[in-house]
Amino acid sequence: MTTRPLPVLDLPAPPRRSGGDPRSPARPAAAFDEYAIGPEALPRFFVWTLGCQMNRSDSEEMAGALLAAGCAEAIAIESADLVVINSCAVREVSERKVIGRMGQLAALKAERPGTRVVLTGCAVRDQGPAALRRRYPAVDLFLRPDQEPELVARLGLAGPTAPAMLGAGVAAPDRPDASPMLAARASAVAAGTIRRGQPWAAWVPVIYGCDKTCSYCIVPFSRGPERSRPFDGVVEECRRLGEAGALEVTLLGQNVNSYGHDLPREERFAAIAAQRPLGRRLDLAGRPDFAALLRAVDGLRRGDAQPAIPRLRFLTSHPWDLTDRLIEAIAGCPSVCGHLHLPVQSGDDAVLRRMGRQYAVEGYLGLVERLRAAVPGIALSTDVIVGFCGETEAQYEATLALLRAVRYDQVFAAAYSVRPGTPAARLPDDVPPEEKRRRLNALLALQEEIGRERNRSWVGREVEVLVDGWSPPGGHSHDGGGPPIRPGAARPLAGRTRENKLVHLDGGPERVGTIVHARVDHAGPYSLVATALT
Ligand code: SAM
Ligand code: SF4
Repeated sequence: MTTRPLPVLDLPAPPRRSGGDPRSPARPAAAFDEYAIGPEALPRFFVWTLGCQMNRSDSEEMAGALLAAGCAEAIAIESADLVVINSCAVREVSERKVIGRMGQLAALKAERPGTRVVLTGCAVRDQGPAALRRRYPAVDLFLRPDQEPELVARLGLAGPTAPAMLGAGVAAPDRPDASPMLAARASAVAAGTIRRGQPWAAWVPVIYGCDKTCSYCIVPFSRGPERSRPFDGVVEECRRLGEAGALEVTLLGQNVNSYGHDLPREERFAAIAAQRPLGRRLDLAGRPDFAALLRAVDGLRRGDAQPAIPRLRFLTSHPWDLTDRLIEAIAGCPSVCGHLHLPVQSGDDAVLRRMGRQYAVEGYLGLVERLRAAVPGIALSTDVIVGFCGETEAQYEATLALLRAVRYDQVFAAAYSVRPGTPAARLPDDVPPEEKRRRLNALLALQEEIGRERNRSWVGREVEVLVDGWSPPGGHSHDGGGPPIRPGAARPLAGRTRENKLVHLDGGPERVGTIVHARVDHAGPYSLVATALT
């Protein structure tokens, strides 16, 4: 059987809506004329996802839409007729990964001229179609993140039997004016078409975009302003996941704890009157907030009164929006895991000001104190940027001092990377690359020590692990922590504790996707080694 040809895709991304917020998502472009359904097989697709959890979640939605349209998934780029690249642009190196694949993709297309390449995600911004084509010459169609719901329609694959979500411009039933991302999610949840990576753990986006103005960051430009999903829509998606047996749900957003400020007021949220302590004065009275959402999802119960979803997580929290209401909710909800990712970026007030982060070190440390008092034993992780514009040695040392003071469980650190078009791109990028590297390596070495010490406190304790991987015995530990695992005594299972600690443990592949109780034997800087008890 031959494969149905995909249309020639040489349309530039449609212009954004004129007037209003320049970052507002555009209306969906006119769909391609539908292709007559013939006897040919539909294209096999491969989605290559880079970057954050939000991208992974978006890819699940796009893959689900293609499957619902009747396409099949290819096991590799080489065997696909349609390659969808969901890109990341947070650092230059992320963009380079995709640019570096252009030659391979061009060769594939030369070999099989029907092959089409679509680029989505944060690399697709308003740089003009010519600039995009120069950077990504093998790409046929560019879709900004807010245009991803148009994928199937733009490919001419939305046949008459396809679910409604596959056409462009569908509206969320409860918010007829909502953006395409919200509408597409509502339809995909209703139709059950999201192609989840595994049944035991799920991503659930709750807010799209970002309203912050961190001067180094491309995300507000690529993903547009914040748009919260309707409260009941999120709860319903979680209810379905619980019913289907999901053991863990992670609520997602670039800044998840500013959820709800853009939703309509409702009587049931009348008691919510929180104000952001700093920055934009938002009147949040009568609108849902993230604390209310967390409590509602935690409130989903099974017949035996246990949480319907045993493990609830959320990513990412901006310190600015971490209210006392939210800290109380984290402490008061039994399903919410004892781990918080709270990016700090720098330990120096002047650098934080230049970064536009809207908090100072003292305020951040106060939050950490309140969190640790409310949720004893909570694990903390963070993001740090070293070598930001004008960062002196003393300012960098202040970040090291902050790491020593907070003693995070995990730190994701990166050297500052200029992002064209961001406010910081106008500041001198004056820390030389080799100095950035030195600072980064020294910071990671410090954190390795802190991580090892923090993990040592787990030795001998019992942990609850959600197992998510198995590799055949005979491999070796990548950790370097604890005594080397002897061949034959290798721990082939890997999973996470409620505190998000990576654990290697013994057992067979049948335990993947289950919760196992285990005792910790050894600790390294990045993971624990444990013996299963059940
Ligand atoms: N919204 C989250 C927050 O407020 O921290 C994080 C989202 S951002 C996409 C993920 C991380 O990428 C940031 O926390 C920051 O540390 C890093 N990052 C963003 N822009 C960067 C840049 N230009 N150079 C280096 N790292 C960057
Ligand atoms: Fe980027 Fe700041 Fe928004 Fe995070 S909060 S996505 S770092 S602008």
